Amino acid sequence: MTTMNFKPIFGDAEKRPIIIAGPCSAETEEQVLQTAHELAAQNIDLFRAGIWKPRTRPGEFEGIGTVGLGWLRRVKEETGLKVTTEVAKTQHVFEALKYGIDVLWIGARTTVNPFSVQEVADALQGVDIPVLVKNPINPDLKLWIGSIERLYRAGITRIGVIHRGFSHHGESNYRNVPRWQIAIELKRQFPDLPMICDNSHICGRRDTLQAVAQHALDLNFDGLMTEVHPTPDAAWSDAAQQITPAQYHELIGKLVFRKAGADDPEFLQSLDHLRQEIDEIDDEILNLLGRRMGLAENIGQYKYRNNIAILQTDRWNEILERAIAKGMKKGLSEEFVGAILRAIHKESISLQSKVMHQNEKPIEKL
Ligand code: PEP
Ligand code: MN
Repeated sequence: MTTMNFKPIFGDAEKRPIIIAGPCSAETEEQVLQTAHELAAQNIDLFRAGIWKPRTRPGEFEGIGTVGLGWLRRVKEETGLKVTTEVAKTQHVFEALKYGIDVLWIGARTTVNPFSVQEVADALQGVDIPVLVKNPINPDLKLWIGSIERLYRAGITRIGVIHRGFSHHGESNYRNVPRWQIAIELKRQFPDLPMICDNSHICGRRDTLQAVAQHALDLNFDGLMTEVHPTPDAAWSDAAQQITPAQYHELIGKLVFRKAGADDPEFLQSLDHLRQEIDEIDDEILNLLGRRMGLAENIGQYKYRNNIAILQTDRWNEILERAIAKGMKKGLSEEFVGAILRAIHKESISLQSKVMHQNEKPIEKL
């Protein structure tokens, strides 16, 4: 594993939150410039527009290509905004650098592929440019970290990550389910890595953009990336999730930006007490779990001696139902209690089966 020391994306001290907005795709020069001017008036930090679009099916709009880079250069000249676009291969990197793109991003369909990420990293060797790495489309934290490491080894130190949710099978309210825990774990391992929430690709629709953006801020994310288009319904890609500059203004205006920490000693002290209490409770939970597993081991011995199967479905159902009913009375969700109990049960079964197989000689009846 590489030890990584990241530098702030925009120079000396990181400005928070980092606000990124712009159309999913650059479509026409007019569309790009109009959006950019309206967003510049809202003081965003970075203007986004896809030039090369990785589409799931061929035949959909696959990006306007190099001509669009000239439009982004005009955005910089006319508005002073910094600009960013997605790159997935050497040619994209070279072209983007030639046109003075300020920040590059790696898309979710690229992060999944170590060959492609390495190609981009190799093309960037020796270049000092910020790169934002979107999570891979599948919920694989190692792949996400691997992409960051490949860039870092190529000498890129101004790195940020974009959480855009994960693909899934079956019905969901999200286009890409957030699985916040994965982003939180990345942040835990690399606290200096700015974490930006792409609410557009998580939601896939307009009516939930606000709630998801707020949730990200509540989780102490460092910024937001949102798709904005002058006429969203007529967008050439991702029409359902894009919003107008005016709607974007309203969305940002309604957000509650919270401080990452606080300097107020009174606040810190009460926070400290609460944290101590949480640590104590966590210790208690672990002690209890240890005791519970000890009992499971005894039961395993008993079942072994009496040749009883480990899994007793009736008993398991009874445990689960009882816990869910009790938990709900205490305001714990069914999903949460179920997940905890399942994890405990799984560990308990594996302990019991270890006990059974420890005994060298299989008993005759088996
Ligand atoms: C995009 O930002 O328009 C895009 C293609 O996103 P993702 O890589 O997250 O699908
Ligand atoms: Mn898009």
